[in-house]
Amino acid sequence: MKITEILARGPSYSFEFFPPRTPAAEAAMTAALAELEPLQPSYVSVTYGAGGSTREKTHSIVTGILRDTSITPMAHLTCVGHSRQELHDIVVRYRDAGIENILALGGDAPKDLDLPPSELEYAIELVRLIREVGDFAIGVAAHPEPHPRSQSIEADRAHTAEKLSEADFAITQFFFDAAHYFDLVESLHATGVNRPVIAGIMPATAIGSIKRMSELQGSEFPAWLAKKLYAVEEDPEAVFAVGVEEATRLCQELIDGGVPGLHFYTMNRSRATRMIYENLDLAST
Ligand SMILES: Cc1cc2nc3c(=O)[nH]c(=O)nc-3n(C[C@H](O)[C@H](O)[C@H](O)COP(=O)(O)OP(=O)(O)OC[C@H]3O[C@@H](n4cnc5c(N)ncnc54)[C@H](O)[C@@H]3O)c2cc1C
Repeated sequence: MKITEILARGPSYSFEFFPPRTPAAEAAMTAALAELEPLQPSYVSVTYGAGGSTREKTHSIVTGILRDTSITPMAHLTCVGHSRQELHDIVVRYRDAGIENILALGGDAPKDLDLPPSELEYAIELVRLIREVGDFAIGVAAHPEPHPRSQSIEADRAHTAEKLSEADFAITQFFFDAAHYFDLVESLHATGVNRPVIAGIMPATAIGSIKRMSELQGSEFPAWLAKKLYAVEEDPEAVFAVGVEEATRLCQELIDGGVPGLHFYTMNRSRATRMIYENLDLAST
């Protein structure tokens, strides 16, 4: 099913996974998927790596989900290290395998991998390429805070508006203050772009990794959240509980504000998402 059809029915609740690199990580992801399937997610998505075998794994996981489960899958795809022809061939393969949803991303060139140059520079070019190949529902990334490589917040908002006007929906980078999300949506609406902007949710359940990821993605790790987490830093279970509690509060604020969907970055684990689902009583929706 297309994600556009899912969004037309009401708010979506979706989960993101990444291709595992080791057999143990593969087992963890398979377990997380199985534990989350009973929550009947609107769809699940699988990220696209920077190179090597994980790229092929995105294809096999996404087509496996379509074949073996009742869940709608979405494949992420980035421009990094690909020629136009390669991207075209990947999208044709998805189309022929029955995949209907692709998240079109610019991606980040990794410093530690010697990849060929990327023929497409920005995600919007990939949106256009995918449209030429088939009748997909196409998502794009949006950056509430904004994207770290942008010249200014205004420039990033303008590029996002242009990109989203050619795509079907956006999913945001994670953020911890709902105000960032509402500001992004308001500025898109002001330019006449009203396509759904799904909020990306990353529960801050481990201090070190959330700090690292926030720095990398340009998401503020706010002082009020840091204070709450550091107050219990000696106790990982207490940190986990604070992360889940604050993510629940954020989700509730977004739901109350009319968010069209929540997209949970699961990190291939099910526990935090299951707890937030329970707190919000989403399993019954
Ligand atoms: C929901 C979500 C899922 C993601 N999944 C993955 C994944 O699977 N794999 C992965 O590697 N990464 C993933 N990322 C990370 C993403 O690839 C990075 O954030 C990347 O740096 C930017 O991607 P983008 O699609 O926003 O790029 P773009 O839309 O290309 O934008 C990148 C930068 O260029 C600027 N820009 C855009 N157009 C122009 C223009 N015409 N002129 C000048 N500047 C311009 C933008 O303002 C921005 O600063 C994901 C991010 C999100 C939010």
